[in-house]
Amino acid sequence: MGGEPLLCGVELGGTKCVCLAGTRDGSVLAQAALPTGSEPLVTLQRIADQLRDFAAMHGPCAALGIASFGPLELRRDAADYGRIGVTTKPGWSGCDLAGFFATRYGARLGVSTDVIGAALAEARWGAARGLTDFAYVTVGTGVGVGLVVAARPVHGWHHPELGHVRVQRLSGDAWPGNCRFHGDCVEGLAAGPAIETRVGAPPASLGADHPVWEQVAHALAQLAHTLVVATAPQRILFGGGVMSAQPHLLERIRARLRLSLNGYMAIEQVPGGLEAYIAPPGLGTRAGPLGALALAADALAAAARPQEQA
Ligand code: ADP
Ligand code: ZN
Repeated sequence: MGGEPLLCGVELGGTKCVCLAGTRDGSVLAQAALPTGSEPLVTLQRIADQLRDFAAMHGPCAALGIASFGPLELRRDAADYGRIGVTTKPGWSGCDLAGFFATRYGARLGVSTDVIGAALAEARWGAARGLTDFAYVTVGTGVGVGLVVAARPVHGWHHPELGHVRVQRLSGDAWPGNCRFHGDCVEGLAAGPAIETRVGAPPASLGADHPVWEQVAHALAQLAHTLVVATAPQRILFGGGVMSAQPHLLERIRARLRLSLNGYMAIEQVPGGLEAYIAPPGLGTRAGPLGALALAADALAAAARPQEQA
């Protein structure tokens, strides 16, 4: 390893956690997946055991990054930094992720959302290299957006939840959607469970010619329209389980975005045109786990600059 510090990352997902050990250049030395159970302390202890195994194999871990499903408190100076908020995931509301790992890692712990992590990984090692303004959209169990503006993830009093934006519906489509808060927000129309509820069959069983994909693409194109007019990103990456398994969606989103913008803001003129503008993640399905590694790298760098510690 040539003195390069060992970094550990955990992508905490709704169904599984991916733990990995690697280095600042994005090299992965070891990786393991564990199920995300309904008892957080049991799952977190299994993760801690896995990290200990990594350390036994590769040496002590210099920093830990956790890229988790949200909502999460991300302000370093908040009393409940790194704590999960009210979530639909049974058992996990209020889970203190940072508290669990704080004694071992202290300031060398970085916690963020899975989509912010993935966006940072894409900026460092993937399809957003060299960009200061871009969005990483995941379409999986939910719809999430890691939005980067002026080289920083956007964060207000809370991290944004752009998967829940309400959008114009496709003409003639009156399906009420399945978001339990908003019905037909983008997540309620385009996430895997929404597709399954609407069609009555798992999305994986649907061919590319199924009519639902136009409805899904429309909702995602409307989300892209919102992103374009709100922060004018240089690129929008679409990843997650639904997108990676249904690559035809990308071209449909491009066509519907072009229609929706109707010539306003000439995104075709960005370098590479619309093809490069609406693109898959460069890291593919590794964007999430590598996001956790990126958070670890950032935590290590911040811990070396004492004035940045809250
Ligand atoms: P998570 O959001 O929990 O990280 P993923 O990004 O892996 O999970 O996405 C999981 C979703 O992907 C599920 O809702 C599932 O229905 C959907 N999915 C899995 N395979 C396919 C497929 N072949 N086509 C479309 N959707 C799929
Ligand atoms: Zn919603």
